[in-house]
Amino acid sequence: MKVAEVVLPVPLNKSFYYSIPEELNNKQLKYKRVTVPFGKRTLDGYVISVTENYELTKDIKLKDVISVIDDIKILTDEVVKLAKWLSETYLCSVGEAMATIVPISLKVPKKATKNKKIKIKTDKPSFDMTKYQKKAIEQIENALKNNINENFLIHGVTGSGKTEVYLRSIQTAIDNNKSAIFLLPEISLTPQFISILNKRFGNIVALWHSGVTTIQKYKIFNSIQQGETKIVVGARSAIFLPFTNLGLIIIDEEHENTYKQNNKPSYDTKEIALWRAKYNSAVTVFGSATPSIETYYGATEKKYKLLEMPYRIDEKEMPQIKMISLKNVKTMVSVFSKPMLQAIKRALARREQIIIFLNRRGFSPSIICKKCSTVIQCPHCSVAMVYHKYPERLECHYCGKQLKFPLKCPNCANQEYKVIGVATQRVEEDLKNLFPHTKIFRLDRDTATSKQVYTEVYEGIKNEDYSILLGTQMVTKGFDFPRVSLVCVVDADTSLYLPDFRSSERTFQLITQVAGRCGRAEIKGKVLVQTKHPENYALEFAKQYNYKDFYKQEIEFRKDLSYPPFCNIAKITVRNKDNKKSLEFTETVYKFIEEQINKLNYPVALLGPAQSYISKLNGTYRWQIILKGDRKHLKEILEQTSSSLRLPSETFINIELDPSDLL
Ligand SMILES: [Zn+2]
Ligand SMILES: [Zn+2]
Repeated sequence: MKVAEVVLPVPLNKSFYYSIPEELNNKQLKYKRVTVPFGKRTLDGYVISVTENYELTKDIKLKDVISVIDDIKILTDEVVKLAKWLSETYLCSVGEAMATIVPISLKVPKKATKNKKIKIKTDKPSFDMTKYQKKAIEQIENALKNNINENFLIHGVTGSGKTEVYLRSIQTAIDNNKSAIFLLPEISLTPQFISILNKRFGNIVALWHSGVTTIQKYKIFNSIQQGETKIVVGARSAIFLPFTNLGLIIIDEEHENTYKQNNKPSYDTKEIALWRAKYNSAVTVFGSATPSIETYYGATEKKYKLLEMPYRIDEKEMPQIKMISLKNVKTMVSVFSKPMLQAIKRALARREQIIIFLNRRGFSPSIICKKCSTVIQCPHCSVAMVYHKYPERLECHYCGKQLKFPLKCPNCANQEYKVIGVATQRVEEDLKNLFPHTKIFRLDRDTATSKQVYTEVYEGIKNEDYSILLGTQMVTKGFDFPRVSLVCVVDADTSLYLPDFRSSERTFQLITQVAGRCGRAEIKGKVLVQTKHPENYALEFAKQYNYKDFYKQEIEFRKDLSYPPFCNIAKITVRNKDNKKSLEFTETVYKFIEEQINKLNYPVALLGPAQSYISKLNGTYRWQIILKGDRKHLKEILEQTSSSLRLPSETFINIELDPSDLL
């Protein structure tokens, strides 16, 4: 009897066995997806092995495989091993890991895909490189050519030419008959970049992100296996693509938290990259102007080889960063302080371009009743409703709830309000009043409704149709415009005092990244930052572009208070519509874990229960517990917890290993 060993995307960590019926006998099932009965349902799963002469123990009757989904082997040996490793490392079953690597949703096209003619281009541009670029490329090339599994961290200031190092490394991989995965944090932000890649490498490049259809994705899988696609540029999930001759994995802007998956399995893309590079004797290159504290620590511990690129191309100066203190400023006529306004005027008079950054969309982050000072809150969440003026409404940025405006004050029925604080629409309104003839593009989630918008922004700024680009985080990365001479940060304090151990790091990164958007060509750049806390060390060091001293201070703090990289963290969030029940179950979980820690005598610290930063979200009350320890211990305790504790009805629990924040 022929039997298939199948793993299924269910939270049960074991294989399931199905007999292979006559009619499927001549099809190779190993490493394909199949549909099988599972209880009263049918499920799609993955065949990881086939046994020809399966000896049945007497009274067990196996069910038949229903059908085969794939016409090609969609799994590889590496994928199967990687799924097992994922399951051992993160909190998930092998089947769930497999579904993360090779999505069930991949759709087999009706017509067989034709093989395409591969056109590999190899036109190297002829411009000179800096000695730092040369040195970096030399080391990466050496590892690539000699099949050495080496991991590099490029710490290069904005404008130091990291992209060229990436591209030449890819070239070397291709020249040595290897393939490359190139990951970017936000792929829709870089339309210009994709065209560069196509020009440089021809049609062996494929794109992989959430906008690609499930049929297209299947075709990419297929063409990778046929050796037609040799380079994939993509978002996080591209890390799993089944190249068999993988030579190079590049992770650009490695500090971005989009590389961390928040849902189960909450994997870290960088860890997957290191695993795959080791398996394939391949090379990883992580790059950033502001490496994450954990990665830089890894470099000091020789986990990564550090490649420094401390200067801009042509030794262009870094733009000067100036803090504008709003510490003692009570009222402001506009959202801009005098010096910021002056600088904008001057730049416009010189026909230069300006980027204005504020990490909040809407008109104002809250409104209060003029009569009784009540803050209008979301009916479902413990946060203020954000006032949007264009079109006019109130919106909760956590659950999406919208309310018509004006509305009656829930406390005194008055209908007049005062806006509190500043968001992008208010900045835009101010700009329009101050500079009525200047063309402004506002880029935030309310205006960036499609991918075309990015192309529009990019073309519009490049062709100088717009003088000012204003927006949220979307304006801080990727853009490279020669005529931008001024960057204004309207409020640097938005992320500074969040109750999270990464808040200083995030602020440092944000200021450095946005500062890097100006002074990239002939025109000198200048950066103005408005803050109520100019003495804060993250801002102080960002002002001096002093990553190393910032790192030194931050790593001390992480060590003293025991935060990553000195330990791993787990975050357990419990939610229920009833606040009391939510807290009660959190306490039950806490006690259970406490007993486990004492019984096993593990060095694990337990903190909580505490209300989550947003204590009420979408109508549910949230409490959390934090664990600190090493991953092996944490994982064991968490597995014990989730298998032993029974969830009361209408209570939900979310367990995350190494979360990207503690909020
Ligand atoms: Zn809400
Ligand atoms: Zn009122």
